[in-house]
Amino acid sequence: MGKRRRVAVLGTGGAGLTAAIAAHDAGAKVKVFEKADKVGGTTAWSGGMVWIPNNHLEAQAGVADSRDDALTYLMSMSHGLIEPHMAEAFLDAGPLMVRHLCDHTPVAFRTIPHFPDYHAEFPGGKTDGGRSLDTPPFSFKALGKWAKRVTPSPYYPDPRLSIYDTPLGQALPQPVPEEELERRSREHERGSGQALVGRLLRACLDRDIEPHTRSRAVELVLRKGAVRGVVIEHRGETSRVDCDAVILATGGFEWSEEFKRAFLRGPMTHPVSIDTNTGDGLRMAMRAGAMLGNMREAWWMPVAEVPREEVSTGVTLIAGIRSLPRCIMVNRDGVRFTNESANYNAIGAAFHDQDVSAFAYRNLPCWIVFDQGYVDRYGFPITGGKPGVPPPQWVTSAPTLAGLADKLAMPRSALERTVARWNTQVAAGRDDDFHRGEAAHDQWWGDASARGGPGAALGPLDRAPFFAVEIKSGALGTKGGPKTDVNANVLDVDGRPIVGLYAAGNVMASPMGMTYGGAGGTIAPGMVFGFVAGRDAAGDPVFPAKGPNRKKKGR
Ligand SMILES: Cc1cc2nc3c(=O)[nH]c(=O)nc-3n(C[C@H](O)[C@H](O)[C@H](O)COP(=O)(O)OP(=O)(O)OC[C@H]3O[C@@H](n4cnc5c(N)ncnc54)[C@H](O)[C@@H]3O)c2cc1C
Repeated sequence: MGKRRRVAVLGTGGAGLTAAIAAHDAGAKVKVFEKADKVGGTTAWSGGMVWIPNNHLEAQAGVADSRDDALTYLMSMSHGLIEPHMAEAFLDAGPLMVRHLCDHTPVAFRTIPHFPDYHAEFPGGKTDGGRSLDTPPFSFKALGKWAKRVTPSPYYPDPRLSIYDTPLGQALPQPVPEEELERRSREHERGSGQALVGRLLRACLDRDIEPHTRSRAVELVLRKGAVRGVVIEHRGETSRVDCDAVILATGGFEWSEEFKRAFLRGPMTHPVSIDTNTGDGLRMAMRAGAMLGNMREAWWMPVAEVPREEVSTGVTLIAGIRSLPRCIMVNRDGVRFTNESANYNAIGAAFHDQDVSAFAYRNLPCWIVFDQGYVDRYGFPITGGKPGVPPPQWVTSAPTLAGLADKLAMPRSALERTVARWNTQVAAGRDDDFHRGEAAHDQWWGDASARGGPGAALGPLDRAPFFAVEIKSGALGTKGGPKTDVNANVLDVDGRPIVGLYAAGNVMASPMGMTYGGAGGTIAPGMVFGFVAGRDAAGDPVFPAKGPNRKKKGR
C-alpha cells in the first residue's frame, strides 16, 4: 500500500465536510481548517435540502427520473454558461455521493414528496418532484462538546424543524404534533441545515477529524507550480501545514466589496450568507494561476432589511412570501416588473434590468406591496408575525394606495393603475403580464391550501390599509471561482490541472451556470464536488480518466 496522502480541507460547510469524509474514506489523512469560531458555514444556516437528480431514494419512491432527463433539463437552461462535461460529472457523481454518505455515515436523506423543480416545465424538468432531498432531524446530543460549536441559523427561529415539516415541504401541510416537538426538544434534535451539518460533523468526528476553528487559510504553499501546503493563521500567528493536496471549500466572495464590484453582473448589496465568506479561496486560487469561471453569477435572492432585534443579521430572505396571493412588487414608477412568484434565483435578473435612456437600474429600488387581506390570512411572514396581527411599525403603511404611493415617492396614478390592472387579472384568473401562478413552482410556493392552480399565487389587493417593504438585491452566495476539471482539480489559465489544488462549493466555478435546478440546488453541487475532490485528492478519483483537461501536466 502506498503512503497515505495528506489532505487539507479549508472550510466546514457542506462542501468542506463532505470533502473531508470522502478523502478520509479513500485513504487520506485529513485536516480541516475553519476561519470562523464555529463550524458549518452558511450550510448550517440553510434549509439543508440537496437537489440530486436520479438518486436512489427517488427510484425507491417510485419517481421516474434519468440522467438523460436531468442533463436535458440543465442544458435547456444553460444560456451558454453550463459546460456539458461538468453537468454530466455532477449528475454521475451525485447519486454516488448520496449512496456513500447514506451507507457509511450518520447522514440520512429522504425525498420531499412532490416538491417541483424550479423550472419544472423545461424539458426534462420534474413537476412532481423527487430530486429534492432533505435530512431528517438529528440529535445534537450525539455531537458532545461539538454541539455548541455548530453555528446556529439566524433565519429559522425553531431549530427543531426541517423544511420537510413546514408547508413548503408537504403536499398537504400538517403541523408537527406538539408531543413530537417536545420529544425533539428533549433529544436536542435539530432539523434543516443544522441536521445536515450535525450529521456530516459527526461523520468527521467518527473519523477522528476534528475541525480546527479560528484557523483561516491565507496562502497556498506552491512548489514548481504544485500545491504542497497551506499557511494557516490562528489567533494572530501563522503556521505552515504541509500536505499533498488542498481542497478549497471556503464559500463564495459575497462579502468582498472588491470582488463583487470586479465580477458580478449587476448590483448585489445584501448577501445572507455567513460573513466569513470573503473570497479567501478565490484569492488563493488566483495567486496559484487558476482560470476563473462563472464569475458573474450568484445564487440570487430578494432580501429585506429588518431590525436586528428581529433577525440578528439585519436582513431576511424574501422567498415564499412573494408567492402568496394579495401581494405584488412594484418599482419606483409604481409599475409591476416581474413574476413575483418566480424562484428567487431567477428573479435576481429583474434587479439587473437597466433603463438605457435613464441610464438607471429600472427596478431598484422596489417594494413588495400587500393589503390587509394578506395580513389577515398570512400575518407578516417577513418576521414571522401571526395572521391578523398588524405588521410592525417600521413597515410603511397607508389607508389608501395614493397615500402609500406618496410615502414611497412614486406617482399615485401609476400605483392605482397597477393595482387596478392586477385586480382585474386576478378576477380573470390569469396574469397575462408576467404569467404568475402558471408554473408548478409558483403554485407550490404560494398558498398551500390552493395548490394545483394559479389561485395559489393570485389574489387582489383590495382591503385597506396597504403596506410596503423595500426589497433589495441579495444572494445566498456567489457561484464563480476557479475552474476545475470533472474531478474538481483546479485548472490553470492554460487549462492544465494545478497539481494538488481542488475546489468545491460556492468557491468553485459552478457547473450550474446561472441556473438553480430545484430546492437544494446549491448545497448539492457543493457536496457532490466536495465528494469528488476528496476522492481525487486521496488518489482514488471518481473519474479516473474521463472528460477534457484530464491530461496531467508534466510537472
Ligand atoms: C436561509 C438559507 C437557506 C438556504 N437553504 C438552502 C437549501 O435548503 N438548499 C441549498 O442547496 N442551499 C440553501 N442555501 C444556500 C446554501 O446554504 C449555500 O449556498 C451553501 O451552504 C454553500 O456551501 P459551501 O460549503 O460552499 O459554503 P459555506 O457553507 O458558506 O461554508 C464555507 C466555509 O468556509 C469558511 N471559510 C471562508 N474562508 C476561509 C478560509 N480562508 N479558511 C478557512 N475557512 C474559510 C467559512 O467561514 C465557512 O464556514 C440557503 C442559504 C440560506 C442563507
